[in-house]
Amino acid sequence: MESSKRLKEVREQIAEKTRVIIETFCQRALLANEIASLKRKLNLPIDDYLVEKKLAEQVRTICLKFGLDPNKALKLLNLLISESISLQKSSHNPLITPTTVFEETRRLEERGLKVIHLEVGEPDFGPPQRVVDATVKALKEGRTHYTSQYGIPELRRALADKMSERWNASIRSNEILVTPGGRTALVLALSATLTQGDSAIIIEPAWPAYRKCVESLGCRARVVHTQLEDGWEPDVSKIEDLVDETTKVIIINSPCNPTGKIFAGKTVKSIIDVATKHKLTILSDEAYAEFSYRDRYSLLPEDCAKIVVGTFSKAWGMTGFRLGYLITSSQRCTAIAELAGDLYTSVPEPIQIAGLAALECFDEVDLYVAQMKKRCEFITSMLKSLPVEFKEPDGAFYIFFKLNSEVNADAFVEQLLRKHLVALTPGSGFGNYPQFVRLSFCRPEQELREGVARMRELLL
Ligand code: PMP
Repeated sequence: MESSKRLKEVREQIAEKTRVIIETFCQRALLANEIASLKRKLNLPIDDYLVEKKLAEQVRTICLKFGLDPNKALKLLNLLISESISLQKSSHNPLITPTTVFEETRRLEERGLKVIHLEVGEPDFGPPQRVVDATVKALKEGRTHYTSQYGIPELRRALADKMSERWNASIRSNEILVTPGGRTALVLALSATLTQGDSAIIIEPAWPAYRKCVESLGCRARVVHTQLEDGWEPDVSKIEDLVDETTKVIIINSPCNPTGKIFAGKTVKSIIDVATKHKLTILSDEAYAEFSYRDRYSLLPEDCAKIVVGTFSKAWGMTGFRLGYLITSSQRCTAIAELAGDLYTSVPEPIQIAGLAALECFDEVDLYVAQMKKRCEFITSMLKSLPVEFKEPDGAFYIFFKLNSEVNADAFVEQLLRKHLVALTPGSGFGNYPQFVRLSFCRPEQELREGVARMRELLL
């Protein structure tokens, strides 16, 4: 009887505490809105990690007072901060985004106009003929069944062998999961590593999928900004500054989309040291690894907690096949494969056979890469004649250039598309880079030449 009376009392107390939390949460949202408009007026960035750090310190002190582990409260703090940030962002929409460029391009093309596509990261060469033949043969032979959620053993083995050979590593097939594209590999890797309220470190400018995925998992994306003036090299001490108990992952992408930057070997080694010291996983997106125009340090041979993401989309021109993979410890691979099986059962069998054939086509890959390197040299020499600044790409197939401060980059992208029929991607899609624009040089030289000529008309 005593206990049930006490239960009633405690329930009323907990309900009261919950009401107070919700009321405080609503008041906090109103304050966050006010902060958003003040920051906009003062032209201040949305993220303020110093303020976050101070708050985290106060959270730890409060938890200590109650004898509680601060981890859960710090996760709650991340959720509250993410909430404020999304409120601030909703009133901060850029004029033009990769999506609006895509939609406007489609509208123009529906009117019969021919647009020069320097916005998409899709090589113009198709898959090697042997890949197409192998796919057709697989279909004809009835290889159209469910497979293991890990991928067919032949492909896992071939990936382990080829990637070990190319990157001087010793990968075993049970460390490989075949996925429907690199993007899915990334989503699976992050889903298996993060839980709500955790944080992940992203080095910007970056492919927007990282931030979107981290945030959609209810986690906080903490960003290290890199600058053109520093050659896009990240300052590793800034990465370490952002680590706390909630941090689980550092995402790196070298060569990088959108800058084409390959991180210096010593930078990668310092990132590994920070990750090891704080027991973090490195998610290394190596989608553009083959497109390296100078020495590149791969994470594959490294014995640290890592997940390496790869894709057949870029180096084999197989974007529409939707075939990728991830490489990690066998234990982690098993956990991620379980999630993969629950989500999509397995990757289509003929597509996996196409991947197997692709791994026999490194001669073609080498030709594609050589062609892209030539285009890289061509486009950099063309762009040098325009009033733009950039660092020559070390890899990938993008140039991230800066317009001079008198030109509004969003308006430039918009006008170039509407009036001159050249599509580019605004820099704001890759982080806080409103003066920048990404150009993808996946097109033949004559289109690149024509694209730059039309840019010149608008800029000079
Ligand atoms: N990583 C990066 C950095 C990318 O730019 C892309 C595609 N744009 C991918 C991964 C994934 O490509 P896919 O899903 O086609 O394999």
